[in-house]
Amino acid sequence: MRALLVSDIHANIDALDAVLEAAPEHDLVWNLGDVVGYGAAPNEVIERVRSLGEIFVRGNHDRACCGQLSLEDFNPVASRAARWTRQVLTPEHVDWLQHMVRGPITPDGPQVSCMHGSYVDEDEYLLSVRDAKLPLKQAETRINFFGHTHLQGGFATNGEDWFKLDPVYSNDDERDVSELVLVPGARYLINPGSVGQPRDHDRRAAFALYDDQRMLVEFHRVPYDFRLAQMRIVRAGLPDQLAMRLSYGR
Ligand code: ZN
Repeated sequence: MRALLVSDIHANIDALDAVLEAAPEHDLVWNLGDVVGYGAAPNEVIERVRSLGEIFVRGNHDRACCGQLSLEDFNPVASRAARWTRQVLTPEHVDWLQHMVRGPITPDGPQVSCMHGSYVDEDEYLLSVRDAKLPLKQAETRINFFGHTHLQGGFATNGEDWFKLDPVYSNDDERDVSELVLVPGARYLINPGSVGQPRDHDRRAAFALYDDQRMLVEFHRVPYDFRLAQMRIVRAGLPDQLAMRLSYGR
């Protein structure tokens, strides 16, 4: 079984389409949340991801954009974008967002979980090995996919030592793949990265592929027409910062 992992698309249809075009053959799609928020094409992105399958966990922006989460904890830029998204979403899409499932979910038996933030707290950011220790101990599954930080990579432990997983790429601004072999007995937290708003100083759209036959995860980066996404953001009257950050991947 080969699962395509996408996360934090953030209403960026240009990045999503580039990812789907570049994606290697897969049997199904697992979506780790934040489908909308920040970007200027929320309805288009929801249409597209719904056509790809039914395995989703909700993100904090998904909840904020359908009125399930107060905007109190959002910074001014994020909350302006969430309010704009609420205004433009079709009633059907608001309803769809309201029914997204809280993670973690186990889409593939006892080995694998999918979540947006962390194992116990769907809104927790796992940024360092230190952050990863408790959730990975709490997880009942060995392979845990998460999003939320917009940083591709993750964490692993063999029970004694802990490791930060950083994909290694050779190319700048070209299509690229980095492979992670999953070692028997080790436990993983793996972030496929953000499709629509990467923050690891690499503006290429990020995604991953999980292959349970070959027991590996491929991290992918793919360039896309970020200028088009920027133009949509500016035209929509969304904050300029949301367009600018797409140039830098941060
Ligand atoms: Zn996000």
